[in-house]
Amino acid sequence: MKKRVLVTGGAGFLGSHLCARLLKQECEVLCVDNFFTGMRRNIEPLLSEPAFEVMRHDVTFPLYVEVDEIYNLACPASPIHYQRDPIQTTKTSVLGAINMLGLAKRLHVRILQASTSEVYGDPDVHPQTEDYHGMVNMVGPRACYDEGKRCTETLFYDYRRQHRLDIRVARIFNTYGPNMHPQDGRVVSNFIVQALKGEPITIFGSGAQTRSFCYVDDLIDGLTRLMNVPQEDVDGPINLGNPAEMTMCELGQLVISLTGSRSRLEFRPLPQDDPRQRRPDISRARQLLHWTPKVSLEEGLNKTIDYFDALLANSREADKL
Ligand code: NAD
Ligand code: UDP
Ligand code: UDP
Repeated sequence: MKKRVLVTGGAGFLGSHLCARLLKQECEVLCVDNFFTGMRRNIEPLLSEPAFEVMRHDVTFPLYVEVDEIYNLACPASPIHYQRDPIQTTKTSVLGAINMLGLAKRLHVRILQASTSEVYGDPDVHPQTEDYHGMVNMVGPRACYDEGKRCTETLFYDYRRQHRLDIRVARIFNTYGPNMHPQDGRVVSNFIVQALKGEPITIFGSGAQTRSFCYVDDLIDGLTRLMNVPQEDVDGPINLGNPAEMTMCELGQLVISLTGSRSRLEFRPLPQDDPRQRRPDISRARQLLHWTPKVSLEEGLNKTIDYFDALLANSREADKL
């Protein structure tokens, strides 16, 4: 019997890669998504697989299905998307978690939550370790996402303590790669699309703020490892990300050089509460999951550039029709 795995947010960037990986591992996959930011195009190549099933559903409503394992990824992840309807964002995180935890409890199955480095807010501890409790402005424009995810983590650990559920929490740091939404507003997709179109590279603030970027294949490897280690080996949340840190100006220059673009850097106002620095301490993941990212930034960016290049070429073709 194949393992039947539920992936919520399965049509999104990370979700679509996870569905593909699980199918390769001979699982049956049930992809649940309301297509708020997910794209049919992301899961198109999977639709012909008999072991793949898609269900349009909003996780803020109860879900009654039969599965052996749950990955809860449903939630818009880019600031422009999660701030478009902030109340819905908090509901997706909190009500979505309650429903998925209720489902896991009824079925007695293992459940993994996609949490985020945003739980650390604008961190004054650097690099961020899992025992740092973070610095989040709970009434700012990012709070719907950050506090939603923090509450989700609380719910996961309370379901573990109160109902002995087998839970896992991954704190995912900035991840990039094919299947990102071209208008999703995240820095890697913005810079690549701008460079390929020869438009200005929009640097928010001075560009001295830092992030650490992980290629999607490495991240998915980390997620599946976390799901599959014995429960006694994972006591708390685990950071997953690539510790290679850089400024946004450095990233802009690198994207320009890899695309051979004539774009220039253009400076725009810094959004409120934008974290100044971010880098994961991944000692726990290294030790417990024997996981470490393998794909260099240059290699990962080249693959992502190829993806957006093909996407833009297709949309130019479509415009001609
Ligand atoms: P994404 O926006 O591409 O994917 C999210 C998916 O969830 C989309 O397909 C969307 O349609 C779906 N969704 C949103 N609200 C829903 C709802 N109420 N019911 C059902 N489906 C819903 O984002 P992503 O980058 O793939 O992120 C996936 C998960 O990983 C999110 O939970 C995000 O918080 C987390 N994460 C991602 C990153 C990253 O760098 N990509 C970093 C940290 C955490
Ligand atoms: N739930 C669900 N699917 C299930 C079981 C539960 O969506 O298969 C939802 C249910 O609607 C409930 C939530 O999960 O609101 C939490 O369930 P739990 O059993 O923890 O709480 P209770 O039902 O006692 O409020
Ligand atoms: N950013 C930027 N230009 C853009 C988009 C984002 O300079 O066109 C900056 C943004 O202000 C932040 C960093 O890049 O400092 C990462 O932004 P993203 O939205 O990708 O992720 P997050 O802020 O959630 O880490």
